[in-house]
Amino acid sequence: MLDTTSARDGSGAASELVIDLGAVRRNYLSLQERLGKTECAAAVKADAYGTGADKVAPALFEAGCRTFFVATVDEAIAVRKILPDCRIAVLNGLLAGTEQVFPEHDLIPVINDLEQIARIREMCVSADRALPAMLHIDTGMNRLGLSPSDMDRVARDPDVLTGPDWLYAISHLASGDDPDNPENAAQLARFAEQRGRLKRPMQASLANSAGIFLGPDYHLDLARPGFALYGGRVEDGKPSPMEPVVRLRARILQVRTVRAGDSVGYGGTYTVTEDARIATVAVGYADGYLRCLSGKGVACIGDRRLPVVGRVSMDMLAVDVSQVDPTEVHPGGYIELLGPHYTVNDAADDAGTIGYEILTALGHRYTRRYIEAASGES
Ligand SMILES: *Cc1c(COP(=O)(O)O)cnc(C)c1O
Repeated sequence: MLDTTSARDGSGAASELVIDLGAVRRNYLSLQERLGKTECAAAVKADAYGTGADKVAPALFEAGCRTFFVATVDEAIAVRKILPDCRIAVLNGLLAGTEQVFPEHDLIPVINDLEQIARIREMCVSADRALPAMLHIDTGMNRLGLSPSDMDRVARDPDVLTGPDWLYAISHLASGDDPDNPENAAQLARFAEQRGRLKRPMQASLANSAGIFLGPDYHLDLARPGFALYGGRVEDGKPSPMEPVVRLRARILQVRTVRAGDSVGYGGTYTVTEDARIATVAVGYADGYLRCLSGKGVACIGDRRLPVVGRVSMDMLAVDVSQVDPTEVHPGGYIELLGPHYTVNDAADDAGTIGYEILTALGHRYTRRYIEAASGES
């Protein structure tokens, strides 16, 4: 097992975020296998969903990934510094003032409107070459991409697209995690229809993580999974078919005996009914552990599940460890707040949110440790 620790402070006293790069690679390979001939790209925006793009993007590259999607130009430049030989596409588009950054760092803008089409064409004229670009067509999400009326303009004037090297037409599914939703097939059909209106044929990309599991019709030429690579589930309410990637190991600061009738934490929201042993652990909402998990979250020692009790505070939370032998819980020791026994998806259900938010909220106060666990070694 390879082990790279990147402690921010070098003290090693912080709680620890363990990221399994072996699991990231295996998740990538299993998606690529499911996709067959379709190329599998990776969404590594938001610092690879909070897992650390500087380590995760190279791991994905080693697994065979050659196309990366980020949200912002800054994220793209950061990935380019580490990976000189891959495609990097910027989903937020080609904003005015960022023109020179794209050719300078060899980045691909995802073009979202007619103004951006005009901008990339001008850039091709000044550069005297066909710069790469992707064309985002909105098919129902109504977030980014050319609207149906923009597409009317494009269809009327075929020269509108002359100049750039259009690598892909892309669109994004609004309800991919709900396979029974008829909107998925409707978006697929609208995407085919709009692509059919383009005078120059383009390769196509539609599927995010969930889209891959909707079946081969949705795969097209390129898929763009993010969440599934990091262990996220692809269908709402179903267990994840992917390997968990992240473990959050919190430091125990104190273990105290609380007498029956006494309460724990701000607001005294949790009153113990029998004498209890309560561990105070060094993770709070400032570390991205959502406060709404107060009284709902689960901590684990081995495979024993223990309740997070009372309110989560800024830097700490409390766990009732009465069931665990005192020799196993001591100040300076660790207790697991996310991992194979209580996953990002489980925490999302208890918090009333989605795993994406649980992952991306994880802060930068932790010591980050990157491991290469073999399959099943968790
Ligand atoms: C974030 C994003 C993805 C990846 O989505 P997941 O659900 O994480 O797989 C793909 N395409 C676009 C346009 C995105 O914004």
